[in-house]
Amino acid sequence: MSPNKEIMVDEVASRIAAGDVQPWKAEELLLKEYGIISPDHFRLAVLSRRKLIENLTGYQFNYLEMPDKPYFMKWRCPKDDSIWHLEARDMNTVCSYCGSVLKPHGIGAERFLPLAVNYVGGREEYYSYAGQIKVFGDVNKTFTNLLAYGAGVGPLGISAGCFRINKFGGAEIKVAKWAGAARNLSYVFKSEEEREKAVEVVKEILPALRKEMEKKYLTEFNGEIHEVEFVRRQHHGQFYLYICFYTRFEHVRGHGDTSWAVGFARGMIDKTLNERKVNYIQSLVAMGFDGDLKPAPRNRRGRYVSAQVRLPVVAYEEMSKTSIDSLFSYIEVERLGVLQEQGAFVYSGMGGEIIPALYRATKVNPRPCNVSCTENMYVEIKGEDVIFGVELLNLEVGVASSREGPICPTAREILRFIGIENSKEYAAAAAAVTLAGEFNFTLLHIRGEMYASK
Ligand SMILES: [Zn+2]
Repeated sequence: MSPNKEIMVDEVASRIAAGDVQPWKAEELLLKEYGIISPDHFRLAVLSRRKLIENLTGYQFNYLEMPDKPYFMKWRCPKDDSIWHLEARDMNTVCSYCGSVLKPHGIGAERFLPLAVNYVGGREEYYSYAGQIKVFGDVNKTFTNLLAYGAGVGPLGISAGCFRINKFGGAEIKVAKWAGAARNLSYVFKSEEEREKAVEVVKEILPALRKEMEKKYLTEFNGEIHEVEFVRRQHHGQFYLYICFYTRFEHVRGHGDTSWAVGFARGMIDKTLNERKVNYIQSLVAMGFDGDLKPAPRNRRGRYVSAQVRLPVVAYEEMSKTSIDSLFSYIEVERLGVLQEQGAFVYSGMGGEIIPALYRATKVNPRPCNVSCTENMYVEIKGEDVIFGVELLNLEVGVASSREGPICPTAREILRFIGIENSKEYAAAAAAVTLAGEFNFTLLHIRGEMYASK
């Protein structure tokens, strides 16, 4: 890069840091004030934001790559007129509908599009900067949010939400000490009497069995079995026994090792029941009962975390340009929509988009994060203040690159940039960005500005 351009990048980064320019306006600034010609401005804008993030965090980008041409180009099929937005490095410029060679679409600067708002790098994922958020309470930090949100305006809403929440002192975090995991065994019997005999035998060997399971499988992860549940059910002459093992961990997920420990327990229980002549028809690792990885209140996988912001009612009314009653009506409309119409107890609307953006960016375990997206939104009045909060009931995460699941260097770099050092901080960051998104989207909805056509 020429010395001129380096100075330019430094200057734009400083202007963003000083608050003179919003990070997503860097492209426009380079075109209008610095005389850069499209599409060269995309690369310089990305470099400016990367510089900003390096300055904010004190880390340097080593792994999060940046393509030479970080922008989309528009193409058109001459035969069927379909329009294609292809990344500039994509050489496969053929229409997949009809096989025709695509023609450039749009004139001059019109032909080019940004990869994602606030793009900062990435080849297979489009990483965006989504502002900083201050958290306090169980975790005290300022997170620098980098999300793999993809194209769209998502990061803008989160950035704006973070900005507002920081103005009111940040987000207060409450996070559980332990994360849970669960795995269930089931036995099938011909009679209730036989089932009761089995319950007695299992309860007798359980204290020693628990110790052995922990020693063999859970000690490496500082995990423990904290509860074993016995449940009896039946179906037309078959008598079932569920024996569900619940484990908990401070720093890791422990899901895989919980499963292995319970598999071991099954072998030991089978052997003992056979020795004692207790007859069962079938013994199973029956995953339906444990609630593991099911988006339901019974899910036992993951950790509880909540984030809330507190601000004067008058400040909220001023900001939302309506009365506080509108906020409560909005929350009720949404609550009924989910509770009555969908039959679920959660709001997974925005959380279901924001939380995966964090998982995609950090590539931690688990890669499928469906139960972690279970979210409640709440609003309360305390004295003269309104409290706006989100709670994630089952945030499941392991941030160590270990035999539980290795994490690639790019993702580990992203974790450092964000400022996440352990699973509790991950949970705090997830709750804080979700709060920022929900807070901002709620404001836009009650102002009538969301999806308002221009
Ligand atoms: Zn075509």
